[in-house]
Amino acid sequence: MDCLFCKISRREISAEIIYEDNDTMAFLDINPRAPGHTVVIPKQHAENILELTAGAVEPLFLTVKKVTAMLKKAFEPDGFTIGINHGKASGQAVDHLHVHIFSRWRDDGGGSVHSVVDNPPKESLEEIALKLKN
Ligand code: 5GP
Ligand code: ZN
Repeated sequence: MDCLFCKISRREISAEIIYEDNDTMAFLDINPRAPGHTVVIPKQHAENILELTAGAVEPLFLTVKKVTAMLKKAFEPDGFTIGINHGKASGQAVDHLHVHIFSRWRDDGGGSVHSVVDNPPKESLEEIALKLKN
């Protein structure tokens, strides 16, 4: 598959791989936004979480947990931001699902996940909940 992260998972393109198992791989982001900025991928090609097979979800998030523990041990940050840019509108540049893990410090100048968008709905929460459940 002609996909950058598939090529990294097949080791056709080099990366600083910090963890790997049968289903997943974690490597350092080439353009780190924080010390140890890591991306975790499923080895199965899926563009996003909706395309990922159900069975691949658990291994992916187990690896997110393992890598978060590795980062905590190595860097002792005050917290983490863990997130997915899901679709071009959200900033996804590589079309292979990946979970970013950023170590965070109280004084690092970053924001919460809420800072990525400020587009509150016009409908009430009740209307939105109804729409979702119908
Ligand atoms: P996205 O915007 O799709 O969520 O993030 C893609 C991430 O992949 C970016 O943070 C970018 O720095 C990283 N990236 C892009 N190309 C490479 C590469 O060849 N190697 C590694 N290790 N990371 C990459
Ligand atoms: Zn891929």
